[in-house]
Amino acid sequence: MAQPQIHQFACLKDNYGVLVHDAEEGVTLSIDAPDAPAVKRALDERGWKLTHILVTHHHADHTAGIPSLKSETGCTVIGPKAESVRIPCLDVGVAEPDALALGRLEAKVLDTPGHTIGHITYWFPAAQIAFVGDTLFAMGCGRVLEGTPQMMWASLRKIAELPRDTQLYCGHEYTVSNGKFGVSIEPGNARLIERLAEAEAARAEGRPTLPTNVEIELETNVFLRADTREIREHVKLPLAPDWKVFAELRDRKNRF
Ligand code: ZN
Ligand code: FE
Repeated sequence: MAQPQIHQFACLKDNYGVLVHDAEEGVTLSIDAPDAPAVKRALDERGWKLTHILVTHHHADHTAGIPSLKSETGCTVIGPKAESVRIPCLDVGVAEPDALALGRLEAKVLDTPGHTIGHITYWFPAAQIAFVGDTLFAMGCGRVLEGTPQMMWASLRKIAELPRDTQLYCGHEYTVSNGKFGVSIEPGNARLIERLAEAEAARAEGRPTLPTNVEIELETNVFLRADTREIREHVKLPLAPDWKVFAELRDRKNRF
C-alpha cells in the first residue's frame, strides 16, 4: 500500500495548504492552491515537483494560486465539474463517483455540497486520508453559502460515515472559535471541553490543530451531533428532523 508523505503548512490569514508526495512515482499533489508563493516555498523546501492540484471548491482562498503554479510547473488541475467555469485553468472536472489514479495513489471523489454548490472532498481510502476543504472543520463546519442546510447536513454525514480512523485535512484553522461555540451548545461534553483546552494550548504555541479524524469529530463536533438528545433539547427542537437542528446550530454559529 502506498503511504504518501504529507506536508501541511499555514498560509494567507488562516488557510492551510497541503502537499501529498509519493516519492516512488514522483507524484506531488497540492490540495487547493491558496497562495502560489507559499505553495512554491513548501515544494522547494522539500525538493518536490508539483504534478497535480486537487481543487475542493472555487473560492479565491483555494484557487488564487492556480494560474501561477500551473504556468510554472505545467501541473494538471483537477476540480469540481459543477464549478468548472469558476475555477481557473481547470483541466479535469470531476464529481462523485469518479476515482482518480495519481501514480500509486487512489482518490475517490465525494460530492459534499453546501458551502458551495459543487464542493467536493477527495478521499484516499488506502492512505486513510480525506481532504474536506471548507465542508468540515475541527469541531465546526463551513458556512452554508450556496447550498441548503439539508445539503450541508448530508455532506457532513457523508464525511462522518468514512472509516473512523480517516485523517481529515481541512481548509482553515478555526478550531478554537469552533470549540468555544461547541462548548456553549454542549457544556456537558467533557471530551469537547478537553479538546478546546488542547487546541488553545496548541495555538498559543503556534502549532496547528489539524489534521483531525472522523472519530474525534463524532465525539466533539456539535454540527455532527445534531441528532443527539442533549443538543436537540439545548436548541429546543426535540422532534425536528436532524437537518433542522443542524440549520439552527449553523445559524447560531453565524451570530456567535
Ligand atoms: Zn470556501
Ligand atoms: Fe476557504
